Amino acid sequence: MKPELQPIAGLHSDFDGAVGELLRAVTEQWLLVAPKANPAMLEMFADRDVIPYRDMVPWAGEFAGKYLTSAVQVLRATGDDRLRAWIAEFVAHLVRLQDDDGYLGPWPAGSHLTGAAPNVHGGGATWDAWGHYHVMLGLMLWYDETGDANTLNAARRIGDLFCDLFLGAVEVRLVDTGSTEMNLAPVHTMAMLYARTGEPRYLALAEQIVGEFAAQRPAGRGSDGPLAGDYLRMALAGREFFEMPKPRWESLHPIMGLVELTWLTGNTGYREAFERIWWSIVRHDRHNNGGFSSGEKATGNPFDPGAIETCCTIAWLAMSVEMLKLTGDSTVADEIELSTLNSVLGMHATSGRWATYNTPSDGARFASAHQIVFQARAGSPELNCCSVNSPRGLGMLSDWAVMVVGAGIALNYYGPAQFRVPLEPGLEVVITESTAYPLDGNVRIEVTPTRPAEFALRLRIPGWSRHTTVAVNGELVAGAPTAGTYLTLSRRWEAGDTIELVLDMGLRFWEGERECAGLTSIYRGPLLLAYDARYNRELHTTGLPVAYGGDPGQTTAACLQIPAIDAASLDTEPGAWDDWLPPLLLLEARTQDGRSVRLCDFASAGQTGTLYRSWLDL
Ligand SMILES: [Zn+2]
Repeated sequence: MKPELQPIAGLHSDFDGAVGELLRAVTEQWLLVAPKANPAMLEMFADRDVIPYRDMVPWAGEFAGKYLTSAVQVLRATGDDRLRAWIAEFVAHLVRLQDDDGYLGPWPAGSHLTGAAPNVHGGGATWDAWGHYHVMLGLMLWYDETGDANTLNAARRIGDLFCDLFLGAVEVRLVDTGSTEMNLAPVHTMAMLYARTGEPRYLALAEQIVGEFAAQRPAGRGSDGPLAGDYLRMALAGREFFEMPKPRWESLHPIMGLVELTWLTGNTGYREAFERIWWSIVRHDRHNNGGFSSGEKATGNPFDPGAIETCCTIAWLAMSVEMLKLTGDSTVADEIELSTLNSVLGMHATSGRWATYNTPSDGARFASAHQIVFQARAGSPELNCCSVNSPRGLGMLSDWAVMVVGAGIALNYYGPAQFRVPLEPGLEVVITESTAYPLDGNVRIEVTPTRPAEFALRLRIPGWSRHTTVAVNGELVAGAPTAGTYLTLSRRWEAGDTIELVLDMGLRFWEGERECAGLTSIYRGPLLLAYDARYNRELHTTGLPVAYGGDPGQTTAACLQIPAIDAASLDTEPGAWDDWLPPLLLLEARTQDGRSVRLCDFASAGQTGTLYRSWLDL
């Protein structure tokens, strides 16, 4: 089985606008400095056997791998030469820290991939296989980028260690090492490793792990019931993701193994289970800002005010990229755009220096290094699960912004950017977008092939754009494009060809239920709107007696009492903010009692530490 849509090997991207600025800021302020500012990221591997041991969180082994994956993906989106040189150096350090038997984790001898270690903070189980999953993923992405044989070899040695320990094992299977949402994730990287090497043992172990999804606790060992997430069986039986035994966000990583195995085996059951889980999350657990999870897991309630963790939204985006490749369904790209322009931009400081742990629909933005500081250690003051993971949300643009479909191109990303697509040997197509999108709906797309060539260009017509027009070289394309599909333009393209795409930026509304009953979310194009106290200093009252900001738990929706807004007054052009740190979008409107109110885009809300809300009273 083959993907419907494929990321493009050798794509050159140049993002401008807010997305481009943030890509550059995160490169400068985080990716190029994080390992040296937090050297324990690598040193914890170097001194794994030195006494006294480091006291570490169970997932400490993931930091280097997550960082590497983020860095490689951002590199693919920017082509930044300094980042490329630094990643090469980082990988050279990392692979030198691999043990003779292939082990590349931070735990001491005797504790390797057992799930236990004497120096786990709090005495819990280690997420050692999960840490290796992230290291393998980062190494394989770097191998894909460079073709470097040493890098692939390091990933293979991890794969060999897993096979030696777990392939065909009866006594201690991988699922028996505990923390199974996390520790079964290598199903995904073992399948990826098979795809890159053809080594049958890797595929055999991946399929064995799929079998372990359904493992049950042996009789007489504690309570009965599932040991793991049982994702495949339960999805095929029609259960929602939030009803499965392990609905935490980490489960999305082993679940992505099902897509990789679909390509390798053609097993349509894997494909069906994956698609059902993806749809279950869209329907029941994706919040108004495109973020996933409530309190780090699926609850079946998108109005749940529990934390929307950065790692969860990143995993959701990675899963969505797989869904887009699998189905070629443009509405999946709509979802990715929603999550990217609202949650991913919003989880990062515009400076690029930090990212959140929680990017709530209503509340405040706290740096992860502040809110989950319990993960910080000597030598790694800024490291936590989210800080190393967040740039992936931007880096994944390199997977989905523009893709290939058969002998043609699918354009998913709208915004000021240029893409150079190597379509076939000797034929490069330069796609240049001139637009203020997502601030307005007019997108001018120049298509410049190196020689006149016949191919299909698919344009994403967002599901939310009710009235769309497309013109090629000034001539309207006959028939209204259908929202929620790709419009295919098949013709002989030559230099100077220009497409004018006009999307409908009319306001849309999502009425809240449960905890958000009586409240409404407002969208303008792909952007969720928000009330930020910064732009409305005179208008709201608060539920707080004196101060806010010390305790993240305090900053709930109830803390900011805002007047009802007259939605009809909102259909206006963007306003200006004549002070520093302007929001991306600022709209003027009226309250129902006739006062002036400003709404900004969700990603800009709370950037200066003020309270904000996106569930609004209309
Ligand atoms: Zn996290």
